[in-house]
Amino acid sequence: MTSPAYDSNNIFAKILKGDIPSVRVYEDEHTVAFMDVMPQSPGHTLVVPKSPSRNLLDADPAALPHLITTVQKIAVAVQEAFDADGVYIAQFNEPAAGQTVFHLHFHIIPRHEGVALKPHSGKMEDGAILAENARKIVEALG
Ligand code: AMP
Repeated sequence: MTSPAYDSNNIFAKILKGDIPSVRVYEDEHTVAFMDVMPQSPGHTLVVPKSPSRNLLDADPAALPHLITTVQKIAVAVQEAFDADGVYIAQFNEPAAGQTVFHLHFHIIPRHEGVALKPHSGKMEDGAILAENARKIVEALG
């Protein structure tokens, strides 16, 4: 099976264009990181490349080194900001694997021993809480 083509009307493409809001924690020439609006734990952040790809399967390999470097940078900041015992990093390809938004992204989710994750794409978080969690990550990024 081959995947459908990239659809530039997906919600993360709109976020990248600034057509819909996001709570951003980081941006550089090639990548953006913003808070997941339905976090599985406080501090759940998404890292996306600016270049269009549906997921990892159709991504330009040239974009990946910078992308994974940003994933590492944000994961380290999230661990510090939330005093996490560990950091869960997830990336889904196609609906059968759990993907719901079709612009490549990595989930960065702080984990604490004995604390269960909330469901994927569960409940919308309050905007003020997302903003406060973003502030902690930005502070950790220095
Ligand atoms: P995936 O299932 O890997 O495609 O994950 C998509 C993620 O995007 C889910 O965790 C959603 O909570 C999150 N999400 C959906 N819409 C938005 C949005 N407008 N801003 C931030 N995160 C979003």
